[in-house]
Amino acid sequence: MFYESTRNNTLKHSASEAIIQGISPEGGLYVPETFPVFSLEKIADMVPMDYRQRAEEILALFLSDYPREEIRDCVNKAYREGKFDRPEIAPVHKLSENQYILELWHGPTCAFKDMALQSLPNFMEKAQKRLKADWETVILVATSGDTGKAALEGFRDVSGISILVFYPEEGVSQIQKLQMVTQEGKNLQVAAVRGNFDATQNGVKELFTDQDFVAFLEQRGYRLSSANSINWGRLVPQIVYYFSAYDDMVGEGYIDLGEKINVVVPTGNFGNILAAYYAGRMGLPIHRLICASNQNNVLTDFFREGQYNRNREFYKTISPSMDILISSNLERLLYEVAGRDNDKVKGWMEALKHQGQYHVGEEIREVLGKTFWAGYAPDEEAMETIRRIFHKHHYLMDPHTAVGQKIYEDYREATGDENKTLLVSTASPYKFTRDVAKAILGEEEVGEKDDFALNEILAQVSGMPIPAALQDLKGKPVLHTVSCQREAMRDVVMEFLQVK
Ligand SMILES: *Cc1c(COP(=O)(O)O)cnc(C)c1O
Repeated sequence: MFYESTRNNTLKHSASEAIIQGISPEGGLYVPETFPVFSLEKIADMVPMDYRQRAEEILALFLSDYPREEIRDCVNKAYREGKFDRPEIAPVHKLSENQYILELWHGPTCAFKDMALQSLPNFMEKAQKRLKADWETVILVATSGDTGKAALEGFRDVSGISILVFYPEEGVSQIQKLQMVTQEGKNLQVAAVRGNFDATQNGVKELFTDQDFVAFLEQRGYRLSSANSINWGRLVPQIVYYFSAYDDMVGEGYIDLGEKINVVVPTGNFGNILAAYYAGRMGLPIHRLICASNQNNVLTDFFREGQYNRNREFYKTISPSMDILISSNLERLLYEVAGRDNDKVKGWMEALKHQGQYHVGEEIREVLGKTFWAGYAPDEEAMETIRRIFHKHHYLMDPHTAVGQKIYEDYREATGDENKTLLVSTASPYKFTRDVAKAILGEEEVGEKDDFALNEILAQVSGMPIPAALQDLKGKPVLHTVSCQREAMRDVVMEFLQVK
């Protein structure tokens, strides 16, 4: 299987090359030339398998230049008990007769990013060896919380790669900060930036685009890279859990083999829901894909009107991982629905860059409307949903998942669709303690209590266990104390790599 760029499909690359490069030199994203098809028989064959075996079956088709043993080795390292606190890895929870929840937060950092960031580093390490890379890759990350920790945990002690994470001093929760500053590992560092997330992210972007600095590092044997979801190696592991969830639902007797389900995804950069779309292309019986957004509703407008317009106000919400105005992975979906026409995609992306908007035309909007439905929920609705679901089902939802829940309810009301539905849950409620506690206990009860105290109370009232990875943070020593001005981020990189 070869990969081509969404903006120039004449060049073909192996999976290893696509994963090492991350993004195509002309700015396009790598996509597989074709999608392998899984028959219902094959899906049935996977019902008795565990998560790792299912992952191996699916990944082997996409990573065709990786020997089978390498893939097995990668998935065994990534998805094992001890790292994940449930043997199913990504368990399906039954909420009601019609509705099921795919919990993607049982990994080492309690965020769905683990599902991909536990395996991407292994894929990169093997690809570097295969392509005889004579450089060390340096992953630079600017994080608003979840990605940084998941990337640190994924890349820790991977050979040939080191990682440096910048987080905004005034922009992450108490638990998120502790997760990062207590991170162990020989090839990594964490630094606070005095400023907000925008300053941090712009600082990292400037490092990537500073040609002199990039050349300076290359002369010393270092290449900068990022770990965000435009990398194919981060997307492909996400296809796995959709098949796995479907197989679990068949295995439990929740659905019949071949029965079509809806999938609801709290969406930001469009990676997670795109993986569901790919699963559907491969034959997974999916009826509708429901794209849930918060107040940053650029995707809702896009699916309803065919117009993508980023020229709008940016809102900071209680579901920060969905606070996004440019959903990069949408480009991959457009490439498919535009009949793999790379000139069209290039035109839209240029328009987005220069005018901040583009229109895909009525025909494509209609095609998209057959598969996708979209909606958005502001913070108050997410808070109300957390409270209501807890009282009705005794189940704790984090704010991202609650947005998905609300949009599913809106969808059912609008369409009357009774198909069984899988809601993707992207974060542990115990990572977004304050807002979950406010929704359930009320402002007054929350008061000045710290996140650990609030988690204890939430665990008591809900009976849902606090993940050990969060509970253990309390006693861990702080290992990372570097804090810098935005202007000094470059010096932090140089000190980390010990170059002058
Ligand atoms: C990253 C993230 C999302 C958004 O996922 P995309 O693949 O970027 O659409 C949603 N919820 C949580 C908790 C996340 O960390």
